Amino acid sequence: MNTFLHQFAKSNDWLTSKNSFSLIAGPCSLESEEQIHSTVQEIAKNGVDMIRAGIWKPRTNPGCFEGIGKGGLKWLKEAGNEVGLPVTCEVATPEHVEACLKEGIDTLWIGARTTVNPFSVQAIADSLSGVDIPVMVKNPICPELALWIGGIERLYRAGITKISAIHRGFSTTEKDAYRYSPVWEIPLKLKQKLPDLPIICDPSHICGKRNLIENVALTALAYGFDGLMLESHVNPDKALSDAKQQLLPAQLSNLIKNLKAAKTAD
Ligand code: PEP
Ligand code: MN
Repeated sequence: MNTFLHQFAKSNDWLTSKNSFSLIAGPCSLESEEQIHSTVQEIAKNGVDMIRAGIWKPRTNPGCFEGIGKGGLKWLKEAGNEVGLPVTCEVATPEHVEACLKEGIDTLWIGARTTVNPFSVQAIADSLSGVDIPVMVKNPICPELALWIGGIERLYRAGITKISAIHRGFSTTEKDAYRYSPVWEIPLKLKQKLPDLPIICDPSHICGKRNLIENVALTALAYGFDGLMLESHVNPDKALSDAKQQLLPAQLSNLIKNLKAAKTAD
């Protein structure tokens, strides 16, 4: 028996929300002080619980925009402070962790291309020893539940108690409409194995296109996920990363209304 699965059952639920599910929203990447400020001002009107933005971007090919770098952390934190919301960003190295802690970033997340590498997750976990900041662990990019659980266990063993999982879809050879296949049975199995672990769905990265997002978000809520992470940008067509999947703040607002209506109807 995996003793971690047994121990984790005693961990607590930390992800709170103003609604019946948590909402984390923000741009794929922080691109400038003005972009994060205007995006956050708009999306905060929708009753979201936390602001997201990537500062260091794991791009598939070199030569693309790879994030604004640590100078952007201050703008992210200020944008959150202005609307009274906590902020989160992706960390992939101990240096990222150090920079985030220094700037008072409230919550960290580990990306799909990092969860896949136990050395990287362990280095992040070690750099967090003694700091009980909430950490969200995206699924590894490959459809392997054990690797996802292993990443969560590495953080837990380092003393992190406020952990959640993020389901962002998997890279498979299957050709479907999605950018990354949801393979719902994997997050559902995780829920079964770790019933006290909050789990968030990230329909933006699963879908890769705006028009599919609502359906995936509704499916996640119907499965009892605890929250959603959604990408939104004031000018998505001009976004420096993930342009096709980011929602205008007005589209985000509409989506949230529909999700809340569906949730109260069930
Ligand atoms: C992101 O959230 O913008 C991102 C790069 O995520 P993932 O690790 O899911 O690809
Ligand atoms: Mn993105």
